[in-house]
Parts: sequence; structure tokens; C-alpha cells
Amino acid sequence: MKQLNTLKKKREKLLKELCKMENILQGTLVEAYLKCGKRNCRCADDERFKHGPKFYLFYKEEKKPKMLYIRKEKINEVREGIRKYKRLKEILSQVCKINRELLKVERSKNDLN
Ligand SMILES: [Zn+2]
Repeated sequence: MKQLNTLKKKREKLLKELCKMENILQGTLVEAYLKCGKRNCRCADDERFKHGPKFYLFYKEEKKPKMLYIRKEKINEVREGIRKYKRLKEILSQVCKINRELLKVERSKNDLN
């Protein structure tokens, strides 16, 4: 019984964390240096003068790879969103584990009866 309550409390705590996921993002933040395409720009002939860093969020939508330009002032927010995505997956697998444990504990309790 004690075990049951401990597991349920742990699960409750994990589920509460899910409410703070509003800015979650899936993907990878990539830094790129690019040529602007203007023929008279110094980046045209010399790799060292490519413009950047520019930031992009790479992600998949309906199995197709996509990228989204990210303004510099949004980088920290995007990084946090990506971290939260990883945390969300962690939480899900932990909650599933707890639920399996609960099934086991409840089963063995019933077996005694
Ligand atoms: Zn240029």
C-alpha cells in the first residue's frame, strides 16, 4: 500500500511538470554562415566573408525536413523549447514505467487474495 502511494505521488509530480510545456519545440538549432547571393558582395569570392551566424530550427513535418529562420533574440527561447521536448519524452517514459509498476503491485496484491 505504501509502495502504491509513493508511486502515485511520483507520477503526480511528473504530470504537473507537463503543464509548463507551452513553449516546447521539436528539432535542432543550427548555426549557418551563408552567401547572400549579391555578386558585388565580398562574400561571393571569399568564404571568410560569408554572413552569419544565422540560426535555423531544423525539424520534420509530415516526414519532410524543414527549416525555420530564427532571429537572434529568440535563440534562448528556442533552445529552452528544445530542452523541454527532451524532458517531455523523459517524463512520458517515466510515467509509463510507474504505470507498469502500479500494475505489478496491484496484481501481486490481488494474487494474495
Ligand atoms: Zn554577401
